[in-house]
Amino acid sequence: MPGDWLAEHAAAPPRIGPEGLDAAKDRAVAAFLGLALGDALGATVEFLTPREVAAFHGTHKDIVGGGWLHLKPGRVTDDTEMSLALGRAILDHGGLVSARAAAQAFSAWMSKKPVDIGHTVRRGISSFRRSGLPWVADNPMNGGNGAAMRCLPVALATFGAPWEQVNRALRLQGHVTHSCGLADAGMEVVAALVQTALAGPSGGIAELSRLVERFVAVNPDFSPDGKPQTDPSGFIVPTLRAVFQALMQARGFEDGLVDVVNRGGDADTTGAILGMILGARCGTAALPKRWLKKLDPATRGVCEAQAAQLIAFAPAISGRDRAVTVE
Ligand code: MN
Ligand code: MN
Repeated sequence: MPGDWLAEHAAAPPRIGPEGLDAAKDRAVAAFLGLALGDALGATVEFLTPREVAAFHGTHKDIVGGGWLHLKPGRVTDDTEMSLALGRAILDHGGLVSARAAAQAFSAWMSKKPVDIGHTVRRGISSFRRSGLPWVADNPMNGGNGAAMRCLPVALATFGAPWEQVNRALRLQGHVTHSCGLADAGMEVVAALVQTALAGPSGGIAELSRLVERFVAVNPDFSPDGKPQTDPSGFIVPTLRAVFQALMQARGFEDGLVDVVNRGGDADTTGAILGMILGARCGTAALPKRWLKKLDPATRGVCEAQAAQLIAFAPAISGRDRAVTVE
């Protein structure tokens, strides 16, 4: 059964209540900003090997733009932009996750000629435009990290919902472009880590490491054991192996993010995914000021606003018990 590894979480979804909204809001905002910061930091070194990162940047630890996309410092890429498109679609549906609304939002985003777009994402959106169906057929080759990199708005809006509803909502958005057991498993663990981080005490990562251990016990492909995962490709397995290794060793938000992007490869996406998890755990106070100053101000504003609005819909806060999805 998907999600069985998460039995404890599934049995007792967190309840925070409206009085906890301010604290949860801070964590949610930090998660969204963490995603954008990891994307902007990592994009500079995307597709480099760790050796090339070291040769060009020493330890890469500042938001300086450039990279293969020739970005302005603080510019984000598809990881953040697709998350914002999905977040907007959820907010426009009263906090409910709809596959069709997600597909329309992704299609509108693709029309604006984004700075980058993955092959699987392009194929999925093109298929929606042709068929009108907001899902792709199962395909073991759809194991890219594109569904996991943009799942944060679902994790926020479904925080505190029964786990099967969270899973359902994740798949509705993911299957617009990616339909593959490994891609599903990747979304599940990322969303579970974000929600556990949102619920738990600030700072520590021991609880998150235990969650990773339970996940890899039933999904051994993702095990972070063994040699350091460097140069992770856009496939979800090496992406999450790099994220897990950096997460389990992280001494804080900045430390973890610097570790993961210096591994090179799909660094904007490993940065985005680890950024949302560590942001949710550490809160806004832990986000480096020098990075926030560099982040594109319009992007920063919309990430903050969406995070606050999405978390207000979360069942853990709102007490809402109706379905968190619509078709
Ligand atoms: Mn990207
Ligand atoms: Mn990427």
